[in-house]
Amino acid sequence: FNAGVNDYLRSKIRTVPDWPAPGVQFRDITPLLQDPKTFRVLIDAFVHRYMDRRPDVVAGLDARGFILGSVVAYELGVGFVPIRKKGKLPFTTVEETYELEYGSATVELHTDAVKPGQRVLLIDDLIATGGTMMAGKKLLEKLGATVIEGVAIVDLPELGGSARLKEGGLEVFTFVH
Ligand code: AMP
Repeated sequence: FNAGVNDYLRSKIRTVPDWPAPGVQFRDITPLLQDPKTFRVLIDAFVHRYMDRRPDVVAGLDARGFILGSVVAYELGVGFVPIRKKGKLPFTTVEETYELEYGSATVELHTDAVKPGQRVLLIDDLIATGGTMMAGKKLLEKLGATVIEGVAIVDLPELGGSARLKEGGLEVFTFVH
């Protein structure tokens, strides 16, 4: 895949200024999902990247990582597991708390979601500070799995998240900066 695909995807990402708080430029991927052509190009781009080094499991980050991850997992012929915000998963869980700009967040994963030694692809829509993806990696590693890569549609490199993730030992890939 090439710059043409990246520009095509970028053209369908809507920027909403000052949402959900003043100063935030929210990168809204809903137009990309809504258009059947860009949705297909997007999913094909993910699948193309991993079809020759297929993970055992795809783990999606709450909530837009669920939309993307379930389709990618289905197309790769592997299972999907959700990493959810605290309080949503019914079975026993492992949890990880991380710092936000104001306060903190906790995410959970079912203890039987992955088995030791499994190779997991971690997916979300966007990497900002990288805190969410790093928490996901830690949860999967608590259960003995290995994260082959963290993948998202968008990186906000000025926030340093993708660089921090790489320093923390996670390979990262995104289509749009
Ligand atoms: P972070 O943990 O800082 O990397 O934030 C990434 C998570 O927050 C992802 O699940 C994104 O969906 C969401 N997010 C953070 N900043 C933005 C933004 N500017 N536009 C859209 N989503 C964002």
